Amino acid sequence: MLKISRISTKLGLVYAGLFAAMMITISVITYAVVTNRAMSIVSDEIVASSQVFSHLFVDRGEDIRSDTELQVRDFGFRSAITSDDLPTINSALETLRQRLQVDGLAWVDPDGLQLGGVGTYMPLSELSEQMAETAYEDVQPAPGVVFMNGQSMLSGYVPVRAPNLIGFVVFSDLITSADIAEIVELSPIPLQVRIEPLSADAGLTGLVERTEADMLYRHEVPSLLRDKPAVLVLTYPLNIAFAPYRVLLFTLVFISIIGTLLITAASWWIAQRLARPVAALAAAADKVRQGSEAQVSLQTGDELQDLATAFNHMSSEVRQREIEIKRRARLDLETMLPNRLAFEEALQNAAEVSEQFVVLAIGIERFSEIRGAIGFDASSDLLVEVYHRIQTHPQVKAVALITAGVFGAHLNLAQSGDVKQAVQTLRESLNKTFSIREITIDIITTMGVNPVANGAPAIALKQAMIALDQAYSAKTWQAVYDDQKYLQTSTNLSLMGDLLQAMEAQHVYVEYQPKFDLRSGEVIGVEALVRWHDPVRGKIYPDAFIPLAEETGHIENLTLYVLAHSIQAQKQILRHGFDLILSINVSGRLVGNTGFSEKAMSYVQDAAGKLCFEITETAVMENPDAAMAALDVFTEAEIEISIDDYGSGLSSLAYLKQLPASELKIDKAFVLQIDQSKRDAMLVQSTVNLAHSLGMKVTAEGIETATAQSLLASMGCDIGQGYHLARPMPIERLIGFLKTQRQAHNQLSQDSATVNHAS
Ligand code: C2E
Ligand code: CA
Ligand code: CA
Repeated sequence: MLKISRISTKLGLVYAGLFAAMMITISVITYAVVTNRAMSIVSDEIVASSQVFSHLFVDRGEDIRSDTELQVRDFGFRSAITSDDLPTINSALETLRQRLQVDGLAWVDPDGLQLGGVGTYMPLSELSEQMAETAYEDVQPAPGVVFMNGQSMLSGYVPVRAPNLIGFVVFSDLITSADIAEIVELSPIPLQVRIEPLSADAGLTGLVERTEADMLYRHEVPSLLRDKPAVLVLTYPLNIAFAPYRVLLFTLVFISIIGTLLITAASWWIAQRLARPVAALAAAADKVRQGSEAQVSLQTGDELQDLATAFNHMSSEVRQREIEIKRRARLDLETMLPNRLAFEEALQNAAEVSEQFVVLAIGIERFSEIRGAIGFDASSDLLVEVYHRIQTHPQVKAVALITAGVFGAHLNLAQSGDVKQAVQTLRESLNKTFSIREITIDIITTMGVNPVANGAPAIALKQAMIALDQAYSAKTWQAVYDDQKYLQTSTNLSLMGDLLQAMEAQHVYVEYQPKFDLRSGEVIGVEALVRWHDPVRGKIYPDAFIPLAEETGHIENLTLYVLAHSIQAQKQILRHGFDLILSINVSGRLVGNTGFSEKAMSYVQDAAGKLCFEITETAVMENPDAAMAALDVFTEAEIEISIDDYGSGLSSLAYLKQLPASELKIDKAFVLQIDQSKRDAMLVQSTVNLAHSLGMKVTAEGIETATAQSLLASMGCDIGQGYHLARPMPIERLIGFLKTQRQAHNQLSQDSATVNHAS
């Protein structure tokens, strides 16, 4: 269900998104094009209007000026204004003003001095200078715009001659909002128009600008005063300009939204139609994966239906094949007898019915030899015959061929007395002569018996096979599975797995047992003894794992580990001022292992002091040539060789003579009892003598008492090692021990020096 919604959501999102993006693009482009067009139409309009307006001003100014020029020629007017009487002048001006229909007139002499005035006229002070300059010229400046108190007016002046110039009539006509409204009417678009002085900081003229809210155009109009230019400002609000197009935009947005919704719905619908059959196929495929058959029925009439049909074919074929594979998986393909898998399944079923039954592993003794003698095909037939004989036994419920020459049988029995009886009769029936392809064959069978309690079928067969092995090694015709015996071996194996991890975790470490010069009492060396501290089992001594490490090949890594660690320890001891020989135990298995020798030699180069390898005499005796070669490699690297555990084996001293050994270590078995056993004492004494005659030092290990120590010293034994002298200890304790030992020794020699002096 989740998948369906995902596909449809994806499709819907993609299509709706595409459509929306497209519509937005179209809208934006359309809007931009349309508004640009609108703006350019409006600006053309504005420019055209401004020119029209400007002409209107010029024309109106010119009209007033020519009218005035005509009127001032009137003789009555001229004589009135030349009178010195102000009321007469103003009354003549007023009559003229009404005739001209302007807002104000003033009468000024050629020097610009005002002589009279009516109505509202422009500020004359600004005009006088300009007027004075042009007074006597033929052509006076054209009328133009003038500002006064924020009001704009159209002003100009005409000369009055009688016949010489006697002054000027200045006219002013206010530009009212009505005037503006009148000209705006002429424009096809509703412009806003005003007239302003052109200040220096105002924008450019002659250019349509776009401000925040408006389109704006400044057009310079004629101004009467030279240094006071005027502009016509035309504005057109943008919102009015764009109003018609906004509807268009809204329409576009509306279409986009409706379209997006429609497309989302449509793609959802399509996706649903697509996803449902796909989901059905996926569910069916999942069923097939889980091992059951599945058929999908689709009536979509499209490729999906083809797919479903193909799937259905595939599914049933897979099923058929699987049945065949399963059948074959339960058969021994050579004899076509049920195999181990079939047997384990049978046991599983049996365990579901009853808690107690018996599993037998029946081994045909020397089967491979029989096969060699009668050939492959005949031996196959033999196995089939054996199978039938086992099967016909009344107590046997299931039989299978487990491996070549070994059958598994499931006996439906609970009482132990019956078991013996059944196994016996079964064996008797099998030991009777077989006749295969006209050959008579006698076989001997061995039985591994596993009485299963608490129905544990998974390991039942395995245990019966172990019982068969146990029978073989006990050389009996039958054996009942012995948990105890087997578990021992398996614990050992797990111990080995743990040892590797323990080395990685540094749970394996080394203790050092001092070796003493028996004459001076000084420590001259240490023996490295490996220890294993397991977080669960506690401290494990080497006797428990060294033999296993030797069996499993882990001894190489373990010895290299000890070598590396103790070489570091030797350096540490040296830093405290003790130069000691470091003795390492090298297992007999490693002597002659060139791989080990090479690695060990590379480690040894790093050593800071003398090294000694302790090698048991048995190791050297077992493989003399390889041992000899290895010992040569060691001595070449200036490593001393010590024959360890001397006396425990049967080495001939004549042979030992050939070895490059410099030390003989008497096995502690002889030393431990030395103060009680005369025989041991004699043996040690003769060994010391012999070793000395061969040029070897003698070390006694296992010195547990003071008596043993003095006895050995008196025998001429060179070096001593034992609990009485010092126990094996970790490196930190060893350093402390060595320090106190040195102190005591110094004290002693001082004392004896004093005694000597006194005597
Ligand atoms: P070993 O080489 O004969 O080592 C001497 C053993 O005698 C050590 O036992 C030591 O603790 C013990 N011992 C020392 N003084 C006395 C004493 O006065 N009385 C008694 N009863 N025993 C004493 P440990 O450490 O249990 O080692 C047992 C054996 O394990 C060693 O016998 C050696 O064969 C082997 N081993 C120890 N460490 C290593 C190693 O790093 N590599 C190899 N290959 N074998 C090792
Ligand atoms: Ca040793
Ligand atoms: Ca020893």
